[in-house]
Amino acid sequence: MTDQTLLGKVYLIGAGPGDPGLFTLKGKTLLEHADVVIYDALVSPGILAMINPQAEKINAGKRRGRHSKLQGETTQLMIEKAQDHAVVVRLKGGDPFVFGRGGEEMGDLVEAGVAVEVIPGITAGVAAPAYAGIPLTHRNISSSVTFVTGHEAAGKYRPKINWSAIAQGSETIVIYMGIHNLENIIGELLKAGLTPQTPIALVRWGTCPEQEEITGSLETIIEKMKEADFSAPAVAIIGHVVDLHSVLHQCRPKVAQ
Ligand code: SAH
Repeated sequence: MTDQTLLGKVYLIGAGPGDPGLFTLKGKTLLEHADVVIYDALVSPGILAMINPQAEKINAGKRRGRHSKLQGETTQLMIEKAQDHAVVVRLKGGDPFVFGRGGEEMGDLVEAGVAVEVIPGITAGVAAPAYAGIPLTHRNISSSVTFVTGHEAAGKYRPKINWSAIAQGSETIVIYMGIHNLENIIGELLKAGLTPQTPIALVRWGTCPEQEEITGSLETIIEKMKEADFSAPAVAIIGHVVDLHSVLHQCRPKVAQ
């Protein structure tokens, strides 16, 4: 169904992982000219400050267990706003197309006849390790990397993900949304043949002023995580590239609020 009376266009913009300095120029220009901005919980205050002061700002954020707007409602809102506003921005953490449901939202908008465009952002799985001094690939250490969600958790863990194939086929593994389920995931990776000594790092609030990381091995990390009271949002990086952290973490960039 195409509604010819529609005025606006929706821009699905990736806000990046936190540090406002990592936001794209294209995204910034659109925020400055936006009529409506619908944003997620993980978008940093420094990026929200770039929004046109006259724009309507709507928090559609959802964090684990706290849904302030359901997915369908958010899409409906975008469709409504596009009927009488020219520039509607949907601002999402990291990259919209990496575990961000950007594809689903875009599909729904296309189906509703709304013009839509995506502006990528730097995904947390790339930025958080970088700010922690962990290169995801490195000559002689890793020539492959897999991004995977660990979210098949929430009490009823059913491994739909082929952890065995990932363990065997990828030298670096980056897990999003995996903190709550890390013990199960590590169990799967050990079953698949990774050794208990395999290095792992957890980076939380990557590229934000409160960034924190812990490192260990598949054998020790759960204990360390509990000791440090470590919680989401965090990515886990598994593989020998994590050994580079001990030297390269000294070069961590400074982060603006
Ligand atoms: N689209 C986002 C990912 C959304 S899923 C992106 O491309 O980055 C949410 C998960 O992303 C969190 O559970 C966490 O695993 C990861 N994440 C998001 N921001 C993060 C940050 N600043 N530091 C570490 N992990 C982060």
